[in-house]
Amino acid sequence: MDRDPSEDDSVADLSFEAESPVMPPDELLEGLPSYDWLLQGRGRRVFFPSLEVLGRSQEPASWSSVLEHSRVPVVTEEVAREALLSFVNSQCCYSSVAAGNLIIQELRQQTLCRYRLETFSESRVSEWTFQPVTNHSVDGPQRGASPRLWDMKVQMPPMFQEDTRKFQVPHSSLVKECHKCHGRGRYKCSGCHGAGMVRCSSCSGTKRKARQPRRCHMCSGSGRRRCSTCSGRGNKTCATCKGERKLEHFVQLVIMWKNSLFEFVSPNHLHCPRELLAKARGENLFRDENATVYPIVDFPLRDISLASQRGIEEHNTALASRARILQQRQTIELIPITEVHYWYQGKTSVYYIYGTDHQVYVADYPERYCCGCTIL
Ligand SMILES: [Zn+2]
Ligand SMILES: [Zn+2]
Ligand SMILES: [Zn+2]
Repeated sequence: MDRDPSEDDSVADLSFEAESPVMPPDELLEGLPSYDWLLQGRGRRVFFPSLEVLGRSQEPASWSSVLEHSRVPVVTEEVAREALLSFVNSQCCYSSVAAGNLIIQELRQQTLCRYRLETFSESRVSEWTFQPVTNHSVDGPQRGASPRLWDMKVQMPPMFQEDTRKFQVPHSSLVKECHKCHGRGRYKCSGCHGAGMVRCSSCSGTKRKARQPRRCHMCSGSGRRRCSTCSGRGNKTCATCKGERKLEHFVQLVIMWKNSLFEFVSPNHLHCPRELLAKARGENLFRDENATVYPIVDFPLRDISLASQRGIEEHNTALASRARILQQRQTIELIPITEVHYWYQGKTSVYYIYGTDHQVYVADYPERYCCGCTIL
């Protein structure tokens, strides 16, 4: 039995519409003076407060005493070999024979300074969003004006812990008929155009299989089958309003807490790859944490003082227009690095020991095999 789409009176007049954008239509938002400041430019807007000037942090009275009290242990030949052996043993493809037998010819040591600036900032954007209206009461402008976005007090994550959270702005809600289903809660099924039945795919609607005299058993010879998209109902619950017919539009505050990192390592005379120096464990020499930190001015290494000025300026410039700086932390660490020159089976080469925990970097280890091709 065929069904005519026009027989399905409950859904025949439902229109098909594409999913609407998050922003509700203009007319919905008219006559709400408290949102004027929010709607300029449409869509997302960023708000930023003025920067507050806070107390200056203290640099040590004498850098030389700080430097004297810090001792980075010297790497001896024995330490250099042990570090290499423990590295080789931790790698499945390296043989420890070379590490035990190579001849260490020279140790070149250098202690580098690493400057780091971390800036923890908060930025806020507002956007319109909506949700299906459920039973809860709607907090609209009749209850008062919405607070300005930077006046909203929220629970902050711990300092330097990145996070993004969303909050509903008080008194910003308005309820409107669902724009997707025009308040019907359901709309016509696009799979069967509201008929509830579709052409049988097995017999392509011919009611019998090709070159077979008997009728198609998939559709019992009707040529049509129940629509699987709507289970034969011809309509579907509106996904936008979840069948609730009405939507609550409201302003959502999105807060992003982010860490920015600036890093500088003093130049090294060795040929150690720079990326090792960024991850190397260092000995902490100086640490300054405050709502705002100030450039280091008289550190014995001028490069570090300059890096501090540059880093603070870069972060302030990058963040000033779009975020509020909540906390800054600057540190100076000493990074020991040793270039080990060795001789093995007629060849000379180098490996590096870096960081206070003696990590090893070796570019061309003499006895290295791929797991897959080692012949046992
Ligand atoms: Zn359907
Ligand atoms: Zn069929
Ligand atoms: Zn709807």
